[in-house]
Amino acid sequence: MLQLSRYPFHTLKTVPQTSDNRSTGLLLQAGFVRQEMAGAYIYLHLGLRVLENIKRIVREELDAIGCSEILMTSFGTREHWETTGRWDTMDNLFKVEGASGKYYALNPTHEEIVTPLMQEFIQSYKNLDNCAVYQFQTKFRNEARAKSGILRGREFLMKDLYSFHRNSEDLDIFFEEVRKAYVRIYERLGLGESTRYVFASGWAFSKYSYEFQTDLGIGEDDVYVCSKCGQAHNEEIIDPTGFVCVECTSKEHFIVQASEVGNIFKLGTRFSNAFGLGYTDAEGKKQEVVMGCYGIGVSRLMGVIAEKFMDEKGLVWPENVAPFSYYMIVIGDHLEEAKKLAKKLESEGATVLIDDRNTGFGAKAGDTDLLGIPYRIVLSDKTLAQGGYEFKGRKESESRIVIL
Ligand code: ATP
Ligand code: MG
Repeated sequence: MLQLSRYPFHTLKTVPQTSDNRSTGLLLQAGFVRQEMAGAYIYLHLGLRVLENIKRIVREELDAIGCSEILMTSFGTREHWETTGRWDTMDNLFKVEGASGKYYALNPTHEEIVTPLMQEFIQSYKNLDNCAVYQFQTKFRNEARAKSGILRGREFLMKDLYSFHRNSEDLDIFFEEVRKAYVRIYERLGLGESTRYVFASGWAFSKYSYEFQTDLGIGEDDVYVCSKCGQAHNEEIIDPTGFVCVECTSKEHFIVQASEVGNIFKLGTRFSNAFGLGYTDAEGKKQEVVMGCYGIGVSRLMGVIAEKFMDEKGLVWPENVAPFSYYMIVIGDHLEEAKKLAKKLESEGATVLIDDRNTGFGAKAGDTDLLGIPYRIVLSDKTLAQGGYEFKGRKESESRIVIL
């Protein structure tokens, strides 16, 4: 349990006027994040807890389909980036100079690291049963316009998964498993109903790639939705002559603003061939390894959820991602009772923040709403005289007494 009397990150009285959307202001005011510079954010304790909750859900769903978590380096050698030709062609690549004039890349993505890494472990077809590795990693992109707070950073947290297969049929099967895992992830994050599966442009290997786009007024992307069958399309694949649905060929459509929260991509042999990653099949013949890659914007998701659910009083976190499930307000000399109750709730799987600061009820209740914690508990002389504590949901206006 966290006691606010021993916590350094206090809230602000008013929304700071530093950002271009309200949820970023609320995240600053409520003490979830601080901006270090344009496009780079520090996650304070509450913000980190939200990120960790998002990561937990992603991790559980990927582990359930047999993926293995690793942690790669956040910078990579110039040689690896030159091998794929992206040292010169990727326009947002951060390049840093090391000792003795050698250059490195701050990785914006990790194909250049994971492919040579897996070369040691993939030799035969036997090594390619469900070969999929992922990480949660800080990515660096020299974005021309870092804006919208944590929605688009120059430094941000991504989950990236890479899969390795004997052929494109195996990739197709695994790809579909990942797609379903993504659907479960967005559902558990509270975004199931507002997240669309969107056709986007692919590479030579496959006609399309696929994005997960959450409907959001401040989202950067225009998503074209077919009025007839509901299939969504990214702007890149809309023909200059006008919209034609790739599923049902209807021309009727509407456009929604959305934010890209993930994407899945068939890479084919682009990276395996660049690094010479192959395998020997059952007949002893050399074959090409076929790859897929799958991203989720973990820190962007925190911003999307904040923006999507906030109300006039402050942030509103879905239970699965909230930094704490209970905000416990203590009025008067009842800290010991509060701690006892918190321990009981924690033993049932809840997480509890105790507001034992030396301030009045109004300030505490205001912060409960600002922080967006799902449930508020009040322990005071008054509630104890009634035999318990007061309980209220963040979205409810009525409270009730729960008997202890
Ligand atoms: P976008 O189209 O938004 O620039 P992208 O197509 O470059 O993203 P990927 O490189 O596949 O995306 O990254 C995977 C995920 O990481 C994206 O779906 C998005 O959710 C997130 N992401 C990408 N760029 C940023 C950024 N600058 N800041 C925060 N999250 C990002
Ligand atoms: Mg994109």
